[in-house]
Amino acid sequence: MGDETHHHVIVGGSAAGISAAVALRRHGFAGNVTVVEAGGELPYERPPLSKALAGGEHAFLHAILPRQAYAEQRITLLSATRVLALDPDRRAVELDDGRTLYADRVLLATGVLPRTLPVPGAELPGVVTLRDVRDARALAARLRAGGPVVVVGGGFIGLEVAAVARGVGLDVTVVETGARPLAGPLGPELAARVTTLHERAGVRLRTGASVSAFIGRTHVTGVRLTGGQVLPAATVVVGIGVRPDTALAEAAGVLCEDGIVVDRHCHTSVPWILAAGDATNQSHPHLPARGRIEHWDNAVRQGAVAGAVLAGVPESHTALPYFYSEQYGRTLQMYGRAAAGDEFVLRAEAADPVDPTDPAGGFLGFWTRAGVLVAAAGLDRPRELRAARALIERRVPVAAAALASPATDLRALAQPAAKAS
Ligand SMILES: Cc1cc2nc3c(=O)[nH]c(=O)nc-3n(C[C@H](O)[C@H](O)[C@H](O)COP(=O)(O)OP(=O)(O)OC[C@H]3O[C@@H](n4cnc5c(N)ncnc54)[C@H](O)[C@@H]3O)c2cc1C
Repeated sequence: MGDETHHHVIVGGSAAGISAAVALRRHGFAGNVTVVEAGGELPYERPPLSKALAGGEHAFLHAILPRQAYAEQRITLLSATRVLALDPDRRAVELDDGRTLYADRVLLATGVLPRTLPVPGAELPGVVTLRDVRDARALAARLRAGGPVVVVGGGFIGLEVAAVARGVGLDVTVVETGARPLAGPLGPELAARVTTLHERAGVRLRTGASVSAFIGRTHVTGVRLTGGQVLPAATVVVGIGVRPDTALAEAAGVLCEDGIVVDRHCHTSVPWILAAGDATNQSHPHLPARGRIEHWDNAVRQGAVAGAVLAGVPESHTALPYFYSEQYGRTLQMYGRAAAGDEFVLRAEAADPVDPTDPAGGFLGFWTRAGVLVAAAGLDRPRELRAARALIERRVPVAAAALASPATDLRALAQPAAKAS
């Protein structure tokens, strides 16, 4: 039996929002649950959008839940509907179709928006970003039409698109302002190995370079770098990061500082409003300082905590940050977050760690702080990384020499602590 007197409204039907709705039911909430989502699709997973672009829509469009699950779990999904405003005094949620919903609590799971480059020509057709399925459809069609492709920004999404475009034989250049792509999250040693993957695949990398303009009359035809050189382009993919979508939160008087500020229970500064996912700025035991985590896994787990809290179960979000990326059929994974001053340890590896034909290939790196493992990343090393995850979570002291040696069984290191805990 439902409870028609209580109603929670979730703004944003993606990783965090849908996870929260499901968790509300899992924790026994019997009232009404409404998810309001501006996009018109059944909520879907974003990670395949950049990895499976060449495979057609059946490859890159995966629903988070089958359609019937919403009815079975009594989750009302209002797709193609945007929340325009929240009124905490009236507990009102104003929709763009003129309706008003009244809610006991609201969860903001509004995510992020792609950053754009403020240079001349940024509005030209052919200069695109990749955030949602409409972007993916448009980009997939562009890749089918041919290159050259210029990717601006060597982050994960940019590099995944570069890998897909090279995979279908297009001419690809990545323009990156830093010394090498991914040096921020992975550090210089591991980033250099990922760079090698791309170079071997034939991607041209322009590092230490920035864009001064996109050129073309009716359509982009080139990218001008600050030094004056022009890279020919039929398509430009701008992947220079995201900004949290805090518009609704700010208008409702919620404290926002580089994201919606939340505690570990997803509470914001306004008691009626919770928040979860990419949009939040969180204090987290595995972050060196308060900050944002822009990963699918975080959004799912933090959303589940928000759902529990809305159902009256006081869970905390402390799950170890985790992300993965797929490039050229290789899987890159990272647990935890490294910070300036951490000691980096590279595990001894094959002479050519990125050689796809070498069964001992791949790489593994660790970061320690005061003798404790805080982060680990690797290519095609899921088993070792799962063991490293346990070490990080349990804060087991580890010696750098043990981490560096391929003879060390990380699972064995984790075990004594597991028995003691
Ligand atoms: C192409 C791509 C590839 C990615 N690959 C990976 C990966 O390999 N690994 C990884 O860990 N992460 C990856 N990510 C990141 C991951 O997808 C995000 O961390 C995750 O989607 C965050 O979920 P979220 O629910 O917080 O927000 P989002 O997924 O951003 O969803 C927010 C939703 O809120 C809706 N919304 C916003 N405002 C309103 C409003 N006013 N009214 C109604 N609806 C609203 C939006 O339409 C949107 O659907 C990728 C992201 C992209 C775009």
